[in-house]
Formats: sequence, structure tokens, C-alpha cells
Amino acid sequence: MSDSSFNAFEMAQAQFDRIADLLELDSGTRDLLRNPMREYHFNIPVRMDDNTVKVFQGFRVQHNDARGPGKGGIRFHPMETINTVRALSMWMTWKCATVDIPLGGSKGGVICDPHNLSQREQELICRGWVRQIARDIGPLRDIPAPDIMTNAQHMLWMLDEYETIHGAKFPGTITGKPLGMGGSLGRTEATGFGVVYTIREALKVLGIDPGTTSAAVQGFGNVAQYAIKLYQQLGGKVVCVSSWDQAEQTSFTFRKLDGINLDELLGITNRFGGINKTKAAELGYDVLNGDEWIDQDVEILIPAALENQITGDNVNRIANQVKIIAEGANGPTTPEADEVINERGIYMIPDTLANAGGVTCSYFEQVQCNMNYYWSKEEALTKLDQQMTSGFTSVNDLSRKKKLPMRDAAYVIAVNRVANACRDRGWV
Ligand code: NAD
Repeated sequence: MSDSSFNAFEMAQAQFDRIADLLELDSGTRDLLRNPMREYHFNIPVRMDDNTVKVFQGFRVQHNDARGPGKGGIRFHPMETINTVRALSMWMTWKCATVDIPLGGSKGGVICDPHNLSQREQELICRGWVRQIARDIGPLRDIPAPDIMTNAQHMLWMLDEYETIHGAKFPGTITGKPLGMGGSLGRTEATGFGVVYTIREALKVLGIDPGTTSAAVQGFGNVAQYAIKLYQQLGGKVVCVSSWDQAEQTSFTFRKLDGINLDELLGITNRFGGINKTKAAELGYDVLNGDEWIDQDVEILIPAALENQITGDNVNRIANQVKIIAEGANGPTTPEADEVINERGIYMIPDTLANAGGVTCSYFEQVQCNMNYYWSKEEALTKLDQQMTSGFTSVNDLSRKKKLPMRDAAYVIAVNRVANACRDRGWV
């Protein structure tokens, strides 16, 4: 989305094709898996606060549901495109299969900018989105969740509209709901913590003590904030974060070489994860260009903002000291950059593994909704750690055994599982 010529779906297909070749998949399975099974495009008319009607474009893409109901977030973004949503839905399929949860892959979006919308207007978009798709989602079909610029309140409005249409309570229809309204404890932390569970395991494999490491983070939203929290608890030092500046329409990196103070930065950050540049400078942060997170002298890079951020153009700026890249975001690294990263021997924890904590806890949320019995935070996070660690171990073991890059190993596991489910069902 940051570069209008970038096509995330072509990238997702290229990643898949590489593995389809490796697995020698037959042409039927290949054709089925390299495209979404279903996609919905619709218009959402909204009466704005100034009494005019504005029509927003919405999408839902269901890539594959052979292993269970589709699962995937809904993004609100002014530069959302159908190809990004297609890519994200495919990555969701692989993600659920990598950590072995019984769900398929979907994704949704609306082209809009919540920065410029009142709460009422956002509520109408949420309800309008559900009205267009209410017959094709649901706990046994496809389960939406939050993503960039959507949150628990948006999910509750969506659930309320769905339940109004269907005339009954279906709390398992949507995850990422507020606590006390069917939400799971631990969901807010889940993606960021999950990223760090995988970093912790990678450091073990490499024989590095987390307390001797430092990290640079791109983004300062839900994923980044909780990744930083847990990484700092493990003893790591975060030297910089970056965020989008809505007023200046560009990003900035905020650096403190002796380590950022999370609470201090949270105090000057808006609800979209945008850090106040003037206040950061007053607090002694170096304010650098948005892309400078990538060339810091650290052991760990955590891209946790958007896709298409580590590319052929900037991959060589990554410092020699970097040992691990953990993809908090979806699709932050292009295949061209991946090749360089592999050649340099940097330990890549791919998105479909690293950020699978969110969907795993969403799955737990659905399980709890179905039981109408809710776990403690400790229980949810312990189960999350077990599922993520187990996913990591399978991918790392295969990567070592077959001498495959970690991304390829994750894809081999995931594509095999999904292809087998399609075959077992008699689809291919
Ligand atoms: P968010 O909206 O909470 O935060 C996004 C952050 O990225 C903000 O701090 C924003 O300022 C920053 N940002 C935006 N554009 C930027 C740019 N060009 N340069 C630097 N920073 C920029 O979003 P999130 O939920 O934290 O999601 C981040 C990424 O993680 C996305 O790729 C998302 O798909 C992925 N992801 C999120 C979850 C989840 O549970 N939230 C789960 C899996 C994957």
C-alpha cells in the first residue's frame, strides 16, 4: 500500500509458485490454491455527518476453507486495494495451517481513512459492511477480526449488525471483541507477544542471550507495542521505532540509542499508533527519516507496520550485526530482498509464523465463545505460547533437516496441509 505500483497478490502468488514447484503440486491443486475461492466486492453507502451520502468500497476475499471456516481481519485504509486483500487472504490460509489451527484464510477491507471519519460514520461503515456480506460470513463460514485501523469497538458494531440480521446471538462470528462482550483475555497482546515467542526460540537456536541483544522496530501500533513490551521483559533493548505522521503524510523513526521508554512513548502516541514528533524530540529522541529503522546496528529487526518494506532497494542497508528478522507485519519483505537475506544467512522468521499469534488467540476466542466459558489471561497466553512454540519448532526442524530457508519451510508445511485437506475432501 505504501507504493502504488506494488502488487501484494503477485508477490503472494510468486511465493506460492516457488513452493508448488518444490512440492511438484499437480496443476489442479496449483490452480485452486494460487487464487481465492470466492471474493465479494460491494458498495457501502453512508450518510455522513454533513448529510451528504458517500459510497465506500468494501471487500471480502475467502481464499481457502478446506481446513475450516475462513478467518481474517478487516482493514480500514485509504489505499486499500483488492490485490492487497487477496494476498492477505492467501497468507491467512498459510498462517492458520503453519500453526495448525483448524481454520482457513480470508481477509476484508474498506477503502476509507478513519482519521477523517467521526465515530458515527465509522459505525455506519461497519454496519454497512456487514449488511453486504451477512449471508456469507458466520461462525461456521468465515470469521472476521480487526486489522490495521480497526479495533474492538468496530468488531462489536459488526457483531451487533450480524446478530440483528440473523435474529440470534452468534458471538463466534467475529473475534477481537471487547472484553466482557465475548472477547478473549490476551487477544490485545497476542500478535506482538507471539512475535517475541518466536524471537525467543530463534535466539535459543542461535545460542544468543536475549539480554545481550537490541532491536529496531518499524511501526508503533498494536503488534509493535506488545512485541516491544515482551522483548524488553526478556532483557532486550529497543533502540528505535517508526510511525506514520498523518499531518506530514510521511513516516519518521524515533531513536534513543540507550533504549526507548515504552510507557513514555505510549503517552505521546495517538490511537492509530502515530507518535507526536515534537514531543518525542522534547523527550530526547532523535527524529530520523521513516526508513532509517532498517539500517540500525542491532541484532533484531522487527518490521511491524505494512507490506513491501524490505525490498531490493533497501535490503543492502541492513547492518552486518543483524542476526534475526521477525516479520510482525504481513508481507513486509519482497522475494527479491528475501534472496539477499537468505544469502547473508540472516535468520528470517516469516510472517505466516511470526505474527500467527493474533489468529491463534482469535481461534481461542471463538472456542471460548462456543463454550460460553472464558479463560484467565494466563491460561490464554500459556496456550498461545505453546501453540506458537510448537509451530516454530516444526518450521525450524524442517528448515534444518531439508536445508530450506525458514519461509520455504513454513510454506512447505502449510501448503502440504492445505493441499492434503483439499485432496481428502475430493476437491482436487
Ligand atoms: P496498527 O494500525 O495498530 O499500527 C500500524 C503502525 O504502523 C502504526 O504505528 C502506524 O503509524 C505505523 N505505520 C503505518 N505506515 C507506516 C510507514 N509507512 N512507516 C512506518 N510506520 C508506519 O496495525 P497493527 O495491528 O499493529 O498491524 C501492523 C501489521 O501487522 C500489519 O501488516 C498487519 O496486517 C499485521 N498483523 C496484525 C495483527 C494484529 O493482530 N493486529 C495480526 C497479524 C498481522
